[in-house]
Amino acid sequence: MGKPKVLVVEDNMDNFELVRFLLERAGYETLFAANGIEGVEAAGREQPDLILMDLSMPELDGWRATTILKANEATRRIPVLALTAHTLPGDRKRAIDAGCDGYISKPLNVASFDKLVAALLRQARADLQE
Ligand code: MN
Repeated sequence: MGKPKVLVVEDNMDNFELVRFLLERAGYETLFAANGIEGVEAAGREQPDLILMDLSMPELDGWRATTILKANEATRRIPVLALTAHTLPGDRKRAIDAGCDGYISKPLNVASFDKLVAALLRQARADLQE
């Protein structure tokens, strides 16, 4: 298997650059989409191993994009990690209700980010082998 492919759906370029740095340092290939619409398209086309999903975005937000991904047979198995400054308990619940497989708050804690991404990728590979 090649490098795991991670799709980052994020409308803020500073946030994207940080996430890309962390992902590439960990040895993953990084793909980029600037909003939920591009993210849904890129997920179907590229079949990434993991999606990091910002929640507040123009065009189509991360909650709605995740709902669409999880309703689609071609993309519903791809884990989605919500990445957001929304830290109220209600926002977390909304992300999980939309189908997100995990949740991480911004500003990022680098150690927990690395661990969570690795765990979701491991889980996704284990599920594929079942
Ligand atoms: Mn945003």
